Parts: sequence; C-alpha cells; structure tokens
Amino acid sequence: MIAEPLDLAVVGAGPCGIAVGIAARQLGLRCLLFDKGAVTQAMIEHPTYTTYFSGPEKLEIGGVPFTTAGDKPTRREALRYYRKVVAFFGIAVCQYEEVIELHGRHPEFLVRTQTLHGEAREYRARNVVIATGYYHTPRRLEVPGGELPKVQHYFKEPFFYFDQDVVVVGGGNSAADAALTCWREGARVTLVHLFDELDRGVKPWIRPDIDNRIAEGAIPALWRHRVAEVRSREVVVEDLGTGKQRTLSNDWVLAMTGYVPDTPFVSGLGVRVDFITGIPAHDPGTMQTNVPGIYVAGVVAAGFDANKIFIENGKLHGPLIASAVA
Ligand SMILES: Cc1cc2nc3c(=O)[nH]c(=O)nc-3n(C[C@H](O)[C@H](O)[C@H](O)COP(=O)(O)OP(=O)(O)OC[C@H]3O[C@@H](n4cnc5c(N)ncnc54)[C@H](O)[C@@H]3O)c2cc1C
Repeated sequence: MIAEPLDLAVVGAGPCGIAVGIAARQLGLRCLLFDKGAVTQAMIEHPTYTTYFSGPEKLEIGGVPFTTAGDKPTRREALRYYRKVVAFFGIAVCQYEEVIELHGRHPEFLVRTQTLHGEAREYRARNVVIATGYYHTPRRLEVPGGELPKVQHYFKEPFFYFDQDVVVVGGGNSAADAALTCWREGARVTLVHLFDELDRGVKPWIRPDIDNRIAEGAIPALWRHRVAEVRSREVVVEDLGTGKQRTLSNDWVLAMTGYVPDTPFVSGLGVRVDFITGIPAHDPGTMQTNVPGIYVAGVVAAGFDANKIFIENGKLHGPLIASAVA
C-alpha cells in the first residue's frame, strides 16, 4: 500500500492511457499507469503485419516526433515508438498488473490489482482514469460451438491457414484484411456477413481488392447470412432472408465481429452508461464522468461505436484530464 495517495491512477497503458500519463507528468501530478499486459498490449495483439492507416504525425503523443520508413507506420514501428515515449518521459507503468476492483469516492479511491503471478496489491488515488480500450473484449459468436478453440477473434498471421477451409465472419476492415491475406496464402476462404455488402468504412485501398476477389469468385461471399452453429469440421450457415441452412466444410472460423468496450467495469463504479450507445456519461471538456474523480480516456469513451474515437483523437483526452485534475 502506497502511503500518499496518487493524484491519478490510470487503468490501461494503451496510447491514450500513456497520453494521460505524459500530460499528468508535465503538470507535476503523481500518476501511475496499470496494464494487465505490457505497454500497448492491445496493439501488440493487432495483426503482425499491420500498417496503420493514420500517418505517423497523427499517432504522435507528448509532442515526440514519430518518423517512419514509409508514409504510414507499421505495427512494429508504432510499438517501438510508444515504448521510447514511455521511457523518454519516465512514465511509471505497472505492467502485467490487472485492476480488478475500484472502491471509494473522490478524493480517495482504492485501486485493487492482481499481478501476473497472483500477487494482490492496493493503491490509493484521488482520481481514476479508465482507459481500458475495447480490444480485449471481443463480440463473441453466441451460437452452439461458438466457444470452440477453432473460433478465433484475433487474426495475427495468414500462414496458419494454408490449405484450410476458413470462414471469415464480418464485413469491416478486419474481415476484409483477414479474408484477403488468408486467401493469398492458400486458404479456401468464405466470407459470411449479416448485411448485403461490406461496411462503408472499409478503407478505400482495400475495397477494390476485396470487391474484385468476391466478384471473380476467389472469395465467395454469403451476404445476409449468419453462422448458426460451429462443429469440429463444419459450420452451419443460415440465409437470413429464407431461414434456409446449409453446411460448409470448415477448419477455422475467424470471427472478425468487432469488440465492445468493457462497460460492466465502468458501470460497476456508478458511471451511467447509455443503454443504446454504450457511451459512459462524461463531460467532453474534461472527460470526467458523472462520478466525481472518475474519468474516461481513449476509445472506451466512444461506447459501442469504436470507429468514433481512435488514437488520433483519443490521445487528446490526456491533456484535458490532467488539466481538470490539476
Ligand atoms: C488492425 C487495427 C488497426 C488500427 N489502425 C489505427 C490507425 O491507423 N489509427 C488510429 O488512430 N487507430 C487505429 N486503430 C484503433 C486503435 O488501435 C485504438 O483506437 C487504440 O488502441 C485505442 O487506444 P486506447 O488507449 O484507448 O485503448 P487500447 O489501446 O485498447 O489500450 C487499453 C489497454 O488497457 C489494458 N486493460 C484493459 N483492462 C484492464 C484492466 N482491468 N487492468 C489493467 N489494464 C487493463 C489493455 O491491456 C490495453 O493495453 C486500429 C485498430 C486495429 C485493430
């Protein structure tokens, strides 16, 4: 137990949590970050060969220049950059330490954590920032067999799927990317999507590639279909228009069905979360929620629409929060 309470305890050391840490440090606040994984754990879990769509200047935090070999940063470059930034500012991060409980009220919260080795720890903090992102809570396929290990919510690399029957579920960027890269490495890919077409947000440089592969039949797309059941060697898909089901031979299901923010964690603190949007009640000028002393930072503030806040704009929450607390 730390004797003097922290000014700020930040739950989550993604880019937006780190941005809070930098701003706090610049204002002389006592601030500690916690992450259940490593620094930027969620980005570590992004597909290995990701090239981000944002230019490096958009991903910069703390005013530290980010230069990259190409026009857009690769995952490896971004991971290295954020580590350098944490070291440069001397941001204190308790890695592999999950925040499991928060109690109390402003100006004294009790932060209970558990380390990777099972050790329980406690900290006191005047204010708490929830910057837990969404990537660790996938939207699961709630169907029989949806819990089988062959159903994967994270796509890392295509090489596992050579000469395999793969169903990719979803119609966004992640689904398009997983379908294309697996197909290129010799997987037999079928795309299954609830709607008539791919999502509008699919990036313009991916769109012609996926559209053409679908049009030529290289990647068959089952529009207005859902996965109804997953079996060890098959999946059952259902036409949402007719209700007719059919069985596809299958080795892997890549469920690129998105991620949801960890709202139970937030609402458990008394923060009001909008039932429809999933947005925690907060003042956009300070990022303070309806619970005094509890702030939200990064994509968790966007509720269910994770495309509204990303690093580019979520990094701006740090200075707002630090100023409000200071
Ligand atoms: C493939 C891909 C490409 C993307 N490209 C871009 C891009 O080009 N530009 C852009 O701006 N955005 C991009 N994004 C989105 C971007 O990655 C997210 O918006 C960003 O990571 C959100 O940052 P964050 O700090 O809010 O949350 P996260 O990065 O998700 O960090 C949250 C952290 O909280 C930790 N955590 C969660 N719960 C706890 C707990 N109880 N205790 C302790 N720690 C906890 C997690 O381990 C994690 O490290 C991309 C996303 C994906 C998947």
